[in-house]
Amino acid sequence: AKSRGRNTLCFFDASMQAAANARSALETDMRAGLQRDEFLLHYQRVVDAQGAVLGAEALVRWQHPQRGMVPPGEFIGVAEQTGLILPLGQLVLRLACQQLACWAQDKACAHWTLAVNVSAQEFRHPGFVQQVLDALAHAQVDPRQLKLELTESLLLHDVEECIAKMQALRAKGVRFALDDFGTGYSSLSYLKRLPLDQLKIDQGFVRDVLTDPNDAAIACTVIGLGRSLGLDVVAEGVETAAQRTFLLRNGCQRFQGYLFGRPAPAAALRD
Ligand code: C2E
Ligand code: CA
Ligand code: CA
Ligand code: CA
Repeated sequence: AKSRGRNTLCFFDASMQAAANARSALETDMRAGLQRDEFLLHYQRVVDAQGAVLGAEALVRWQHPQRGMVPPGEFIGVAEQTGLILPLGQLVLRLACQQLACWAQDKACAHWTLAVNVSAQEFRHPGFVQQVLDALAHAQVDPRQLKLELTESLLLHDVEECIAKMQALRAKGVRFALDDFGTGYSSLSYLKRLPLDQLKIDQGFVRDVLTDPNDAAIACTVIGLGRSLGLDVVAEGVETAAQRTFLLRNGCQRFQGYLFGRPAPAAALRD
């Protein structure tokens, strides 16, 4: 057993070393990418029941000189592990506020809201509230146009502190959405305490909403929960008209997904 234990240990050492090397290579590359301004935002529209655009979600991309357009799934994790999520998150906020300032110039989109994803580390940073307010002030944007998307797991730690931060920003007009809703373990009483404006039904429940009764039940529960708590509900990952119809019939009034448009540069939102 002992020798096997040693082999097992060696095996893990090698694979862990390989993972650590890959992580540190990516970290170095990301640092350079931040210096070289390779990160940008794509925007995905959010529409109402009539199909009118209500705004968009900002989704970060890495325009890498060799790798092409890198999706966030390939670097957000490492950014969180290395602390690079802090400068990256600041950049995302700055770019989002610039975009909002641009929309504010145009009657057709002056009312749009822009949702920005916030990771746990960013939100927990002591300077977070001030950073958001500074980004808004610097771009001279109405805080009511900005929505911050938080996840349940982020809000599980230090709930009082989280609520205080949310309230400080909400007092200025910033709105909050609970992202990927249904994937965590929020209780109703907990949810009631959070100063939220919106719930986003996770796309994992939308995907099979027509064929999986459990997913349908969860989607409908979230819609009902939103209604009883006075919160907007957005269904994300809507790809087919049939999914939209089902969700609409069950009371959902806001939609996001490939059916309405893929994430794309800001100019594409107008078509
Ligand atoms: P998320 O916040 O749940 O964002 C929705 C993801 O679903 C996006 O992937 C979007 O492109 C994708 N999506 C939208 N509509 C559809 C659809 O109809 N079908 C399918 N299959 N997928 C759809 P993306 O852009 O790759 O982002 C992945 C995740 O990375 C995001 O999930 C979010 O958690 C994170 N992320 C993205 N941008 C940022 C950012 O600026 N900051 C932070 N902290 N995280 C970000
Ligand atoms: Ca999101
Ligand atoms: Ca989501
Ligand atoms: Ca997600």
